[in-house]
Amino acid sequence: MYGFPRRSSGTKIIIKTPREITIMRKSAEISALALKHAGEMVKPGVTTWEINRAIGEFIKNRGAKASFRGLYGFPGNACISINDELIHGIPARKRTLCKGDIVSIDVGANKDGYHGDNAMTFYCGGEEACSKEAIKLVRTCEQSLQNAIVQCVSGNRVGDISNAIQQTLEGAGYFIPEDYFGHGVGRDLHEDPNVSNFGKPGRGPRLTPGMTIAIEPMVCESTKKTKVMRDKWTVVEGNGNLTAHFEHTILITKDEPLVMTKLV
Ligand code: MG
Repeated sequence: MYGFPRRSSGTKIIIKTPREITIMRKSAEISALALKHAGEMVKPGVTTWEINRAIGEFIKNRGAKASFRGLYGFPGNACISINDELIHGIPARKRTLCKGDIVSIDVGANKDGYHGDNAMTFYCGGEEACSKEAIKLVRTCEQSLQNAIVQCVSGNRVGDISNAIQQTLEGAGYFIPEDYFGHGVGRDLHEDPNVSNFGKPGRGPRLTPGMTIAIEPMVCESTKKTKVMRDKWTVVEGNGNLTAHFEHTILITKDEPLVMTKLV
């Protein structure tokens, strides 16, 4: 889930202790396993309600809580957004997945007071069921996250991450919604700093060992404009074209970044 803009003055980045990192790794692992489980359910005929329920049970069975449930009043365990829906889709009993849909699922888990957060866009009916335009969009979004992770090195700045995403997405001719972005993550799901999906290299807060951030590129096929639907949650592409969304929780170390939500 993206970081809602905060009106705090200045930036308060919380560096995690080794003990906190140990707890967060568990939360991140549960988040990643829940997302994998959800992705395996993405099939024609399945409802987003069923996937949402399965995610809730999966997380609960591991002694954790779904981070998004009730956050700012969100009614689901996870956000499930289909095709032109970019983020914050509310799971619904009547929302049935169709062959060829691209389905973005965003899941967070809170175990022992710390959150992990991750998202991925899945192909409904497999890649072969989806248009080549959809596949290119999804792959480019995933690549932008990988390019961003490369920048997660101590001494770099948040702007280096943002710029890597921007170069990848705009370089492929796509559009970046400007109102939604990644964030620090820890005891709160949304902490400082904001991690924008566009920006200049060498700008913004410096990356320091012990920082934990959720990087979440979001991409639109034909415009950077988005609309919020009448449910007050679902954010859709301004022209009704396709979107994709990927997210990982990352720990900055003195060496290589640790992708906490990556399953090994
Ligand atoms: Mg997030």
